[in-house]
Amino acid sequence: MPLSKDQISTLLALVAGSTEDDMSCDGCFEHVAQFVETELAGAELCETMLLIQNHMKNCPCCKDEYNALKLAMVALEGQE
Ligand SMILES: [Zn+2]
Repeated sequence: MPLSKDQISTLLALVAGSTEDDMSCDGCFEHVAQFVETELAGAELCETMLLIQNHMKNCPCCKDEYNALKLAMVALEGQE
């Protein structure tokens, strides 16, 4: 059975980076600490973390937050 036009456009939206809208700045701020922890631990990024990574590619504001947090967490780890 061929795909309907609706199904095709849904699939195209999925392929064409729908993730861009899946993570808001609020959501990103909420999870960015966990993202840095995961990254510093060298653990595999879960789906949420991948969304954050993707969001930061398009959002300098959240990327700044991430960089600041990472610096702070690395500094804290160094003190232990
Ligand atoms: Zn953002």
